[in-house]
Amino acid sequence: MSQHRAKHSVNRRDFVRQGSSAVALGMFLSNGIFRSANAEESAKLAIEGGPRAVTVGAGSGKRWGEPELRQLQEMLNQSTLFYWGGPQTALLKKRFQEVCPVKYVQTCSSGTAALHIAVASAGIGLGDEVITSPITDIGTVIGVIYQQAVPVFADLGPATFNLDPGDVEKRITPRTRAIIAVHLMGNPCDMEALRQIADRHNLVLIEDCCQAWGAKYRGKPIGTIGDFACFSLQNSKHVTCGDGGVVGTNSDQFGPNIQRFGDKGYDRTRGLGLEVFATNYRMSEPQAAVAAAQLTRLEGIAEKRSRLGNLLTEIISGCPGIMPHQVHPEDRAVYWYYMFRLKLNELRCNRSQFVRALQAEGVPAIGGYIGKPLYAEPVFQKHAFFAGRWPVKEMGLTKVDYTQHHCPEAEAILTTCIRLPVTEFMEEEYIRQVGAAIRKVAKYYAA
Ligand SMILES: *Cc1c(COP(=O)(O)O)cnc(C)c1O
Repeated sequence: MSQHRAKHSVNRRDFVRQGSSAVALGMFLSNGIFRSANAEESAKLAIEGGPRAVTVGAGSGKRWGEPELRQLQEMLNQSTLFYWGGPQTALLKKRFQEVCPVKYVQTCSSGTAALHIAVASAGIGLGDEVITSPITDIGTVIGVIYQQAVPVFADLGPATFNLDPGDVEKRITPRTRAIIAVHLMGNPCDMEALRQIADRHNLVLIEDCCQAWGAKYRGKPIGTIGDFACFSLQNSKHVTCGDGGVVGTNSDQFGPNIQRFGDKGYDRTRGLGLEVFATNYRMSEPQAAVAAAQLTRLEGIAEKRSRLGNLLTEIISGCPGIMPHQVHPEDRAVYWYYMFRLKLNELRCNRSQFVRALQAEGVPAIGGYIGKPLYAEPVFQKHAFFAGRWPVKEMGLTKVDYTQHHCPEAEAILTTCIRLPVTEFMEEEYIRQVGAAIRKVAKYYAA
């Protein structure tokens, strides 16, 4: 303990020296961001009684109001609240296609439902392998498992937090049928590489856009490069109706399936008998009314969050011990959260100390995201998906064993990442102060 303190005080002197040269350098720079950041950095940490780096509020506002009310009133004048033939559903689909221009669209009850509909519509079934990210909402793979297919988890880019195409390709076997690309935190995956891999191996490419409303890959709307686009309208997402989802596709092969797989197998256009087996994932008109109104807000939300997140990256880039959220310069990330990592070998603290110091500065930082990679959760470790059993494995149709599964980078991400809320109600000054707080804490703990 005392040894640690001694090392630490040497480090403090180093910090002061480095800090003063940085201030001197700052005098030659006309950039106000860095000058004010340096002023913050030379102050004592708030956790040790110094002044807080964040003095302005995070901002707040209402996520729903007039447009939603108008749409709900219109809905109440209807004689039916059922989705099929419903004007709110039609409006939601039309506005969805303005955001994500695809030929076939089906509204549904959740992002999980959207993904299940995509997997089922693509004909993925017994023993088929689907490669995806181990750091995501469990909803990404629920549909895969219910179709008796097998999620295979590939490793991630260290700071994009998205699938590493090289590792995806390594995990392809003769049973692989699809890739689900999760645009984590609203940061677009490397779709060109994933599309090429999918085409080379004849795989279906599904985009999990649940955290990526309004994102763009090289200028193209998210969801338009894969074979399916799956979105969530759950409360925490950029736009919401409480719970809901949308699935879309341009594929004339799969497109006609999505309605039936969201609606108990009923084909409402052709009135056929039950040719496929599916569950009820329908979205009702009240939800569609709210969601349709929410989409009028999306561009503003996406533009603001994208700008704020990129600004934060600009401020914390080059800071010791910090790995900023890595976004391709030609992409638009929409920052569901801003996520960055600590390089713990460059810092004399652990993550919880860093997070507590940030919180004391007035930053609502959260250490970590999901508790563990999905494959490490008990239900995967025990292969206990269906009443404690996993028929696919018992029947010998898969060799996948989650106790042997490892994605080292994903595991490292989860133990070193910090999440910051980004909202459309924040001002640039707030983000500048958050950035200054990160720099201040990182400089203090720099090894
Ligand atoms: C939210 C989310 C889902 C699931 O959406 P629900 O509407 O909650 O079912 C799936 N994948 C990702 C990446 C998500 O963030």
